[in-house]
Amino acid sequence: MNVLVTGGAGYIGGHMVLALRDAGLKPVVFDNLSTGFRWSVPEDVPLVVGDIGDYELVLQTLKSHSIDAIVHFAAKLVVPESMRDPLGYYLNNTVKSRSLLAAAVAAGIKTFVFSSTAAVYGNASEKALTEDAPLAPLSPYGSSKQLTEVMLRDVAAAHDMRFVTIRYFNVAGADPAMRHGQSTANATHLIKVAVQTALGMRPSMDIYGTDYPTPDGTCIRDYIHVTDLIAAHMQALDHLRGGGESLVVNCGYGHGYSVSEVVETVRKVSGRPVEARIAPRREGDPMTIVADSTRIRSKLNWQPRYDDLATIVEHTLRWETMLRERNLKL
Ligand code: UDP
Repeated sequence: MNVLVTGGAGYIGGHMVLALRDAGLKPVVFDNLSTGFRWSVPEDVPLVVGDIGDYELVLQTLKSHSIDAIVHFAAKLVVPESMRDPLGYYLNNTVKSRSLLAAAVAAGIKTFVFSSTAAVYGNASEKALTEDAPLAPLSPYGSSKQLTEVMLRDVAAAHDMRFVTIRYFNVAGADPAMRHGQSTANATHLIKVAVQTALGMRPSMDIYGTDYPTPDGTCIRDYIHVTDLIAAHMQALDHLRGGGESLVVNCGYGHGYSVSEVVETVRKVSGRPVEARIAPRREGDPMTIVADSTRIRSKLNWQPRYDDLATIVEHTLRWETMLRERNLKL
């Protein structure tokens, strides 16, 4: 099976490329290299440098590589940036996804896996979120993904396509064999920021808000290892190839950690101090986001292997250390 991986030079897409290759399938990467890295694409994997909004180039790529399925990761994904630049997010994540879907329809693609986000739920209740919870995104990022979910559902119904939409909770960690990890220099995600602080790459970090009505006052998230997330995508492809129905599934472990607990775990696992300053709440941040993962476990038989915060932190630490040593050598 030939699989187009949009955003395949990025953090999560790059792990998908490795998993497809490991399974003997044929990934083709489509990436504009705005945040991805050419070096991260294995030499034997075709890389098309282009924009998913370039209809003609996407269509030509789908045809010339005889693509059977699309796994669509390419997106902007920083919540605070989306608050400052909503139109940029709607263009990149929604309008360009429309163009990608149009090319997919024109090329007769019947299998589509879409990377969505728990940010579509907005300010959830304290309970774990099921896929049927009301959608009320707090940020243009969440809205831009929700709109694409809707387009995909409608396009699939009209054009005999089947899809799995996967709503990611907080993805972190790195390939346990250290072939890939989050490599963006100025990443904003909590575990990466805390690990960089532990390694002395940042003098200190901020904790955005300690006055939430949670046990320790900081926000709670369901952190999931990137390798488990990618296993869910592989199972989604299997499910669709086996004739399975279209699905929308959460991908998270079903339990959460607070920001303070994450920082403390980074201190413990690294054995180093992490200076964390209390800062005001960050705009667009829901208080608690935890997945109900019943559906993904039952429908895709998803069985996570790295459901352990210390392991996620340890893999992030190892990757970040490697990256730092490599950059020092360059
Ligand atoms: N966070 C923080 N300091 C940071 C980065 C993040 O306190 O330097 C908090 C953030 O406010 C949120 C949680 O950590 O409550 C997870 O944020 P992240 O950006 O990793 O992911 P998000 O949940 O926004 O997708």
